[in-house]
Amino acid sequence: MSVSSVELHRLKREIEFLESKKGRGTELITLYIPPNKNLADVMAQMREEYSQAMNIKSARTRKNVQSAIEVIMQRLKLFKRPPEKGMVLLAGVVPKGTKDKMEVYIIEPPEPLTTYLYRCDSRFLLEPIKEMLTERGSYGLLLVDRNEATVGMLRGKRIETLRRIISNVPRKHGRGGQSQRRFERLIEIAAHEYFKRVGEKASEVFLNEPELKGVIVGGPGPTKEFFVNADYLHHEVKKKIIGVVDTSYTDEFGLTELVDKAGELLEEMEIVREKKLVQRFLQEVVRDGGLAAYGIEEVRKYLRMGAVEVLLFSEDVESYRVKIVCGNCGHEEERTTSSLRELEQRLANERCGKCGEQALSVESFRSTLDELKELADQTSAQVEVISTETEEGQQLRSFGGVAAILRYRPEG
Ligand code: ZN
Repeated sequence: MSVSSVELHRLKREIEFLESKKGRGTELITLYIPPNKNLADVMAQMREEYSQAMNIKSARTRKNVQSAIEVIMQRLKLFKRPPEKGMVLLAGVVPKGTKDKMEVYIIEPPEPLTTYLYRCDSRFLLEPIKEMLTERGSYGLLLVDRNEATVGMLRGKRIETLRRIISNVPRKHGRGGQSQRRFERLIEIAAHEYFKRVGEKASEVFLNEPELKGVIVGGPGPTKEFFVNADYLHHEVKKKIIGVVDTSYTDEFGLTELVDKAGELLEEMEIVREKKLVQRFLQEVVRDGGLAAYGIEEVRKYLRMGAVEVLLFSEDVESYRVKIVCGNCGHEEERTTSSLRELEQRLANERCGKCGEQALSVESFRSTLDELKELADQTSAQVEVISTETEEGQQLRSFGGVAAILRYRPEG
């Protein structure tokens, strides 16, 4: 995974945690605020929602909804305007063992929010932000054969069909083999004109895409290779081609097929890079005085010294530093856990060490990846989240999943 995916990875875990929250009634509030939204308008709507909530029949739900809206308004007051990409506010009373607890979360989305949304439900509404948990940027898609061509774009996980070009090249008769001679005979003036049109339309679409990461070309048979090798595409677009793959179709179905296959291709490229990094780490481990470190404590120590060149973090390492608070006596403590959900379940049945009440709950938490990444950023260390699907990824896992390649080995 690339550096940018570290943030997404962390957010994904947090969202999984938030998804597990459930109110006793329809009383959890979700508020999506886009960056250009006027917060005074949002406040006005919150006041409106607050009075609307008077009509809720259940006294408990009414009270909880109103408290949640109050909490949201308190948080909103801390902002003059929404953050750069907007924000998502979540608030509501969540059952905690014998007691209920008001929880509030503010999430900064990875991409700017486009829609304003207020929702009161038994769960937090997280789908819109989940849809953003893919890499940013887009890929140009082009399917081409002799009969038709389709130009599309892959944005996140969304595939868009943008142009369809039908050829006027006479269809060949019979289903004989595609001999080179016959194939070449078809590529006459009409074909050339058609390919020119395809190249122009595709280039126009791709060159106008601001965050184009690459272009993937597909189609059945050898036409696509011919097309790519000939100069039908703008040279800037041609440079961006990252793969040419076989597909059965050249229409919208073909675009889905192309994305599936290209996904494998991109993953392979990423996997090769990850494998190389882990191999480098493993070589340093066996080398006398090698530049390797592993284990959260040790890696943290070297990060603080600025001695880490690459931080390797296994994707399935879940580790959090959690602040726990007693709702009864206010007692606070910190713990490290590998699962927030499990910790919450455990706390529900645990008695406070100070007052003996069953009122412990998670006050705040921070992922170890987040913590180490911050240290890495301060010293310009490279951060890599490593998938566990490869043999190398598994080997890294056997070192605890947190490791580093060092710039130098500090004394002592
Ligand atoms: Zn207590």
